[in-house]
Amino acid sequence: MTNMNFDIITLYPKAFELINNLGVITRALEKNLINVNLFDLRKYGKGPYRQVDDKPYGGGSGMVLKPEPIYKAHDEINKLPKSKTLLMTPQGKVLKQRDLLRWTSLDQLIIICGQYEGFDERVRYLADEEISMGDYVLSGGEIPAISIINGLTRLLPGTLGDPGSLKDESHNSSLLEYPHYTRPLIFKEMKVPDILVSGNHEEIKFWRKQKMLERTLDRRNDLISNADYKKVPKSKRINNYSNEMMKSLKDNEYEFYPNW
Ligand code: SAH
Repeated sequence: MTNMNFDIITLYPKAFELINNLGVITRALEKNLINVNLFDLRKYGKGPYRQVDDKPYGGGSGMVLKPEPIYKAHDEINKLPKSKTLLMTPQGKVLKQRDLLRWTSLDQLIIICGQYEGFDERVRYLADEEISMGDYVLSGGEIPAISIINGLTRLLPGTLGDPGSLKDESHNSSLLEYPHYTRPLIFKEMKVPDILVSGNHEEIKFWRKQKMLERTLDRRNDLISNADYKKVPKSKRINNYSNEMMKSLKDNEYEFYPNW
């Protein structure tokens, strides 16, 4: 049974050949856990030249995708009962792991990929959600769409060899994952922490939890919740003194720690 149908509207369908070489994702395709249909925007273009883009009204640089071909392609897609249309745009909501999880309950994701300067504003009315990959600009929506196919597919049952690996991974909770080591025990004079070879599973669990907190504090303190913070040993917490200091730095445009 197919768990998820991806219907992609794109000017560059060949870009999606990448998913035929992506390990876990490719196996999900072969096992029919996912189905990817590509709708080549060019086919829906106007006139003998299959025109899909035009100059912007009001002048300015670059070309804009016309609305009609995108609406036509979208109309042609067979809509399943639980379906959402996503529009790829750097002006959208920045994609989070929780969005991918949320979408796993759907039957279908229709993804519209922009190109050039983007698309005619009226295309926005087709979208249930506008999604950005991050605060940077790419030349097209294809790589963002492939990222969504990839990230969502690995959450589907039957896709990963060991679904347990999803539990602790970064962004599944507000904490980043703990550090991993594999053989050899010593590499270029760097030794695997003793605790990991101690065989004491309780202690290992505790060590990993500590590392998750430390890492998140170090690297992404914007992710950590108040509750998680209280679990951090006092010596590692940012104390009132440094909070006060940060406050005064804030006036100099430094960032202040979030709501602690
Ligand atoms: N002029 C537009 C950017 C166009 S980039 C603007 O300033 O908003 C061309 C296309 O690439 C976009 O329509 C979108 O589909 C895709 N794209 C570029 N950056 C993206 C990002 N960060 N997230 C998702 N899609 C992006």
